[in-house]
Amino acid sequence: MSDYIGRFAPSPTGPLHAGSIATALASWLDARAHRGRWLLRIEDIDRPRNVPGAQARIHRQLAFIGLTPDAPPLVQSERDDRYQAALDQLQAGGWLYGCACTRSEIARAIFAQDPSGLVRHREPIYPGTCRQGLPIGRTARAWRFRVAPGDIRFMDRWLGPQQQWPVDDTGDFVVRRADGLWAYQLAVVVDDAASGITDVVRGQDLLTSTGRQIQLQRALALTTPRYLHVPLVLGADGEKLSKQNGATAVADGSGLTPGESADPCEVLDQAITVLGLEAPTTRDRDRWLAAAIDRWADRFSL
Ligand code: GLU
Repeated sequence: MSDYIGRFAPSPTGPLHAGSIATALASWLDARAHRGRWLLRIEDIDRPRNVPGAQARIHRQLAFIGLTPDAPPLVQSERDDRYQAALDQLQAGGWLYGCACTRSEIARAIFAQDPSGLVRHREPIYPGTCRQGLPIGRTARAWRFRVAPGDIRFMDRWLGPQQQWPVDDTGDFVVRRADGLWAYQLAVVVDDAASGITDVVRGQDLLTSTGRQIQLQRALALTTPRYLHVPLVLGADGEKLSKQNGATAVADGSGLTPGESADPCEVLDQAITVLGLEAPTTRDRDRWLAAAIDRWADRFSL
């Protein structure tokens, strides 16, 4: 065994679909090709978005295609104390400030500075209203991380060298939300470090989060893992596949999904094609997976 530790971190907002299955397969193949460990983390901190039964369904889907984690899953909703400790550490280091702004106030401030600003950026860039202190008479709703000027560079194992500019890309970002929930950026950094993750393999929709996560790792004196962002499966509207644009649930072997295949290799064939590799022809699941590990290892010269 090597010191490689990878993870797959689904949010239980629904069953896995073609896109999330491809990400799961990529992270599993990378861990196996490195003779490393593969962990599962359930990212259920955004409680209002959790769908009852989704977590159990995800476990069944992964078991059906033969992707077995090497340890019991880490469940984010059980880890409030860890996120609080990180927030305390960031606060003590002067990295955070309280922010009173509502979403509509932020949108109005961006529009006032630059009327095209809201349209040009997919994510609104925080205009810095509370950076120098709360406006008189206002109370903090959220905690924001003060991003540092300059660029963040990292080598993406799929996409090559990356350069991000946190001040222009996102501005100061939220680590604890106005509704009291932990922000994804904070939880992911705390958990990747706690699990000793050496390699993050995930979808390209999260590429723009990586710069923020590296800033948080530096502020918390944590090691930065290696990154590999895999292509997304797009829906009919050209956006990332989701329930809204046609994602259908992928089989879990229970026969409950309408029209589902009883053959896990069919699910795997579709997933590996997304990753740009040719599907093994065997219909024996475990042989299929062994052949796929070899293909992944060749592709990345492992
Ligand atoms: N929970 C995130 C998602 O389902 C993935 C987070 C990550 O891999 O960093 O999109």
